[in-house]
Amino acid sequence: MAKRRDTAVIIAGGGPAGLMLANELGRRNIATLLLCDRPSTTSFPAANATQARSMEHYRRLGFADAVRAVGMPPDYPTDVAYFTRIAKHELARFQLPAAGQARDLVKTLSGSWSAAELPHRGSQLYVERVLRAEAEKLPSVTLRFGWRVERFADDGDGVTVDATCLADNKTQRFTADYLVGSDGARSTIRKQLGYSFRGEAGVVRDYMGGRMLSIWFRAPDLYKSIPFPRAWQYWAVNRTQRGLLVAIDGREEFVFMFQLPAGIDEAAITAAWACQALDQSLGVHCPLTMIGRLPWTAGLALVAEKFQRGRVFLAGDAVHLFTPTGGLGYNTAIEDAVNLGWKLAAVLQGWGGAHLLDSYERERQPVAERNTGYSRYYANSIGNFTPAPEIEGEGATGEAARREAGIYLNRHAREEFNIPGITFGARYDGSPIIVGDGSAPPPDRANEYVPSAVPGGRAPHTWLAGGRSLYDTLGFEFTLLRLGPDAPDTRAFVSAAAARDMPLTVVERPELELRDLYAASLALIRPDQIVAWRGERVPEDVDKLLAQVTGA
Ligand SMILES: Cc1cc2nc3c(=O)[nH]c(=O)nc-3n(C[C@H](O)[C@H](O)[C@H](O)COP(=O)(O)OP(=O)(O)OC[C@H]3O[C@@H](n4cnc5c(N)ncnc54)[C@H](O)[C@@H]3O)c2cc1C
Repeated sequence: MAKRRDTAVIIAGGGPAGLMLANELGRRNIATLLLCDRPSTTSFPAANATQARSMEHYRRLGFADAVRAVGMPPDYPTDVAYFTRIAKHELARFQLPAAGQARDLVKTLSGSWSAAELPHRGSQLYVERVLRAEAEKLPSVTLRFGWRVERFADDGDGVTVDATCLADNKTQRFTADYLVGSDGARSTIRKQLGYSFRGEAGVVRDYMGGRMLSIWFRAPDLYKSIPFPRAWQYWAVNRTQRGLLVAIDGREEFVFMFQLPAGIDEAAITAAWACQALDQSLGVHCPLTMIGRLPWTAGLALVAEKFQRGRVFLAGDAVHLFTPTGGLGYNTAIEDAVNLGWKLAAVLQGWGGAHLLDSYERERQPVAERNTGYSRYYANSIGNFTPAPEIEGEGATGEAARREAGIYLNRHAREEFNIPGITFGARYDGSPIIVGDGSAPPPDRANEYVPSAVPGGRAPHTWLAGGRSLYDTLGFEFTLLRLGPDAPDTRAFVSAAAARDMPLTVVERPELELRDLYAASLALIRPDQIVAWRGERVPEDVDKLLAQVTGA
């Protein structure tokens, strides 16, 4: 007889990975206890970019519009612009749409941007609040902030977790079927598992390579000092004080990120010192009210050697650390949670097979390697760019130096901030729960995404007549797409799935274009919108196929 446990899944850590996982599990009515040592969601605006794929997952869960509504005003452009000093010379600019345009604009795009959602440039500060509010609506989810996980034990049959309530310092033991450590870079759970990071750390660059300090401040008059159109990111590129200024609310709040000189202890940096660095990047004095500061390290591209053992899993920064160029750390964390969420639920509900959970590391570790590689490329591209000594000079020499820098930075901006290939193109080729058909996957390129139903990648998206997203028609768990006017009878699929208690929604799309888009009349889509299998006809042994995709 199964032992009685306090809950099915314990999540250690309530950042983006933990909160997203709580949403995935809670939407499936899985009893979930999230323990987080912070009093609430993050109190500092770290990540600022939600990639389009994360937005598609928020849409699947029903709260993309709530995320899109946070951050800057709906008409605030999300341009990325480069300057010598932010109030002096503009060097380059990549114009990007405001949040209020996203919903209509995405319906007009095709090719690389065939998507249900565009990216959103809103701070993690606000996005985590939405993730928390959504998780709190789910009856099977309990969120306990102010609780620190101390240690765990996995006896093969279940896990016990000791956690301390920080309000009274009392430690309590909880039992569960599974534990997920989404407890950030210094993960207690990863350390107890004994897993270390592999990859690159301590890389030194002119910028984005070394100890960094972010200051968060209020400066209602700052926009008046910048004689250029508004932007979301303002990069100062000069030879003495580089920096990145990010608009947080589009009215008065900003974050400024700068690199500390080698050998300086960030604790010794006074507010006045930080303000001076800001003034130098701006080229004018900025009166401000400090809200907070966050020291962090750039120059990392690290992935843990293992993502799971027994009943314990790791997700997010606990298993991968990025330099934030490319904006991939939090977004990779979100996709970890998406991948793990449906699998844990399937196993707990009985239709997930004995090997389903093993596929988590097989699928996510290569993506973490890939994504940290892309962020390292962008960090090198911007951080090692040294402008000519004349960049701030007067006359023709100065102008020529600025023109030259502008050419480089315009190209760099389009490489780093137009990344449909990274966001949509991650693939799970070679995963034991993907049934390949021998076709070659599309090339992995950062700035180009080729919609493709080769099993292992994101299901190609399209807008249906009437303006409905194909994704909005999919079931919440597995979906069998019957595509084109001549799709075969799929009753054998339905009965085989029913025999396995596997939730399967059949969606009929008679449009020939959809059949062409998928290059097949049938496509089996996983709960995370990944193509698990495609074919022209129902396989003879359909049960074998379903066994494989559910990890039996
Ligand atoms: C300056 C900066 C800018 C960034 N910009 C971007 C960007 O634009 N785009 C992007 O994608 N990423 C960006 N990132 C990275 C992003 O912030 C992280 O990747 C993201 O927060 C990871 O989420 P997580 O849930 O895995 O971990 P975290 O956000 O670190 O959350 C972990 C949680 O676990 C809690 N915790 C830790 N130990 C315990 C314990 N023992 N018990 C209970 N709880 C515990 C922590 O308090 C925390 O709440 C940026 C980071 C920085 C520093």
